[in-house]
Amino acid sequence: MAARLRVLIPEARLQARVREMGQEISRDYPEGPLYLVGILKGSFVFLADLVRSISTDVRIDFIGISSYGIGKSSSGEVRVTKDLDISVEGRDVLVVEDIVDSGITLTYLTHLLAQRKPKSIRIATMLDKPERRQRAVEVAYTGFEIPDEFVVGYGLDHAEDYRQLRSVCVLEN
Ligand code: 5GP
Repeated sequence: MAARLRVLIPEARLQARVREMGQEISRDYPEGPLYLVGILKGSFVFLADLVRSISTDVRIDFIGISSYGIGKSSSGEVRVTKDLDISVEGRDVLVVEDIVDSGITLTYLTHLLAQRKPKSIRIATMLDKPERRQRAVEVAYTGFEIPDEFVVGYGLDHAEDYRQLRSVCVLEN
């Protein structure tokens, strides 16, 4: 498959924005620990960079959610493929997502986590495609709003390819 990549957000802009987000989060949560919940797999690069810009004490865990198969469009079905290892009861939770698209994944996840009685729960996402929203999601920290294009890199894949790219790129056929 001869796919072409077009850089949408270069590495330097990503890094600068992630640093700002980390500083903002540190200001908003002066008292730790803050429980970061990364959504597998796409958030792992963003979370790794973000956590190094947060000065508050953090705990890190991951949850696996599947909503997209190996294609580019959502199946609309969401399920947990790997649950958290730690309890979030009574904790300040920050869900760390790679990209918000329809909002279906985060609506499902925030309901699931709310049942576990965290003290607070907010969402941080690197990318947001607001045009595609089907469910209203309250996002506290957004890196970049992007147009309705399929992107890869900086943790995001297409059929497991491209996750290691340093920039966010549009995948053009
Ligand atoms: P939602 O439930 O908001 O529709 O979808 C969120 C998930 O869809 C993201 O975590 C991501 O896995 C996937 N997704 C949505 N848009 C894109 C995109 O442009 N590129 C990639 N690689 N994944 C996407």
